[in-house]
Amino acid sequence: MPTMRAMVLDRPKTPLVLRERPVPQPAAGQVLIAVEACGVCRTDLHVVDGELPDPKLPVVPGHEIVGRVAALGPDVRSFALGARVGVPWLGEACGVCPYCRSGRENLCDAPVFTGYTRDGGYATHTLAAHSRCPKTSMRPKPRRCSAPA
Ligand SMILES: [Zn+2]
Ligand SMILES: [Zn+2]
Repeated sequence: MPTMRAMVLDRPKTPLVLRERPVPQPAAGQVLIAVEACGVCRTDLHVVDGELPDPKLPVVPGHEIVGRVAALGPDVRSFALGARVGVPWLGEACGVCPYCRSGRENLCDAPVFTGYTRDGGYATHTLAAHSRCPKTSMRPKPRRCSAPA
């Protein structure tokens, strides 16, 4: 079974621990991402310091993820393997609560948060909902210089 490495928080206010784990398989609606980089946000420190209630434990923190799609869930057609994607803090929203239905999913009654209530990006691999992963382009847009007329 292929394995991955992850930095795991077992309990708030303790150091992250490097662990080998089986590479997770993407379920319906998910993609497996080979992590290229993951930022450190103040929110991650709040999770580690125990300043946010009820994290999933153990949890892999990290929600500012950029990586490459490494495997697709059985129903996922919208990504190619190798596509570069980002993964946001709001890992999933329910889609049916009054907030979601009025375009305010950031207030969702049943959210899933990357690196807090779902394992995040301080790992070689992570799972994410494909519908929430923006495709990214690392190529800078060509700058057009035009002289004022
Ligand atoms: Zn953040
Ligand atoms: Zn909702």
